[in-house]
This record gives sequence, C-alpha cells and structure tokens, in this order.
Amino acid sequence: MPHRVLLVEDEPEIVSPLVRTLEREGYAVAQAATGREALSATAREEYDVVILDLGLPDMDGLDVCRMLRAADYDGAVLILSGRARELDRVVGLDAGADDYVAKPFGLAELLARLRALLRRTSGRAGQSGVERRLEVDVDAHRVHVGECEVLLTSKEFDVLAVLAANRDKVVSRSQLMSEVWTEGWYGSTKTLDVTIGRLRQKLDRAAPAERVVTVRGVGFRLES
Ligand code: CA
Repeated sequence: MPHRVLLVEDEPEIVSPLVRTLEREGYAVAQAATGREALSATAREEYDVVILDLGLPDMDGLDVCRMLRAADYDGAVLILSGRARELDRVVGLDAGADDYVAKPFGLAELLARLRALLRRTSGRAGQSGVERRLEVDVDAHRVHVGECEVLLTSKEFDVLAVLAANRDKVVSRSQLMSEVWTEGWYGSTKTLDVTIGRLRQKLDRAAPAERVVTVRGVGFRLES
C-alpha cells in the first residue's frame, strides 16, 4: 500500500512539481491549499504524513499543526517554510511537527527527508499491511524490519549477516567463528553464544517472526 501524503501548500509553483515528483515516487497524494481544507481532509481520511507550509492564506501553519495534534492526528508532520529564523524552533516544541525543510528546497532533499521521516514514524497512523520482513543491507551495515531499523553491534550484525546469507540452513559454530572473529579464536565459542543471545533478544522485539534456532552439536539457523 502506498504511503498517503497530504500536501498543504498554497503556491502553485511549488505544488505542481512537488505533486508530480511525489506521485512518480509512488506516494498517494492529496492536496489542500488552506489550513481549513487541511483540517477537514485529515478529519475525513487517514494520512501517513502531512507536508505543511507555514505561510497559508487563512491560518498560520503552526496553528494548523497544533490543531492536527489536538484532533488526534497521529501521522507525521513535515514543515515547509521560508521563515529560516523560526525553523529551528518548529520541531520539538509544542506544535508537534516531526521535521522541517527550509524553502527553497531541492526535490531530492525533500524526498530523502520524507523517506527518513516515514521510516521513523511508520506504523503510528495505524497503517495496515506493513511488511515485517528482515532485511540485512551488508553494504550499508544496517538491518531493517519493515520500515524500522534494528540497532546491532558490529559483531551482532556480522553474525546475523552470515546467518541471513544462509537462511534456513545450518551454519556451524566454527564457520561463524572464523567468518566473524577470524583471528584469535582458539576453540572457545562462549563469545559467540553471548552474541547470539543478544541478537535473539533484539530480534524478538523487532522481528518476532524471525528466529535464530540452535541446532545441537552443529550450529545455528535463521528461519521465519
Ligand atoms: Ca505559502
């Protein structure tokens, strides 16, 4: 299901290229040109993110943001504003915005901020059908479950990467020791057991569908 975006902005020169870009990136985009329209749109429909201009014709964007939160809107809010001096105070204050982009902005920058924001806040808006699959990105050294990042130490990551590369197959203790710890291994695999234990705890919380199974006398297996 695409992420649902409500773009609240009154300047056509900003709206049309932004809508085109967002739609091309696969977002479902709705528009509002005033604060009032924005509030009635969020009362009718659920959105994952509201991109909110501060300079609207009828209301101050910060007031719109406060009213959204007061009305229990629980998606993300990304502020757009040319008021550079005010921006630093926007996020984390009582207005309830999650992030901001200063005008003028590049579309690439806005898309990057939007993706990061949705990763952080996804699921807050009662989103259904979120994929809970474990993704190990070896190049970036990061692990995601759905849109959430799982924070691992470097050894935990290395162990998981080896297990994930051999998903549903048993990986022997000696293979894990030699691939992850390489030097200085003289037979004890206690460190490996400690690392596997921590990894299990973290996966339990983030990805309950994934399990690191102990295969007695042999090694470990990652399975769903
Ligand atoms: Ca404006």
